[in-house]
This record gives sequence, C-alpha cells and structure tokens, in this order.
Amino acid sequence: MPIDKSWISKPRNTIEYANGLNEFLEFAFGHANGVVIKCPCSKCGFNKWQTRDVVQEHLTCSTFPQNY
Ligand SMILES: [Zn+2]
Repeated sequence: MPIDKSWISKPRNTIEYANGLNEFLEFAFGHANGVVIKCPCSKCGFNKWQTRDVVQEHLTCSTFPQNY
C-alpha cells in the first residue's frame, strides 16, 4: 500500500502534517530492523542514522524534501 505523502507539502503547524509525520514514522520504523532509520530531513539527507525522537524533531523543525 503506497504511503500517503500529501501531508509533506502541508504547513508544519497543521494537524495533517503532524498526523502524516506520525504515520511516516510508524511506517519507517515498522520496517526498520533497529531503533534507528536514515533521517530524510534536509540536514541529514538520508545519510545519518537517527532515533525516532530525533527524526520527528528534525522533520518538525527543518524542511522535508519535497521530492521524497
Ligand atoms: Zn535529520
């Protein structure tokens, strides 16, 4: 089932964004083999392994790549 990414373009302070981000984290960490995933935020650019708390913070504070 394709994951809904329409929330990515929503303003950061909306419930849609918060819900979408949460769903993304559930999905990403549900498929991860450990407690870290490669953070997709613009700062880490899929190169840094981060825990859920950190990823959530990064995606709330910095830009989510629009082409993801
Ligand atoms: Zn990050």
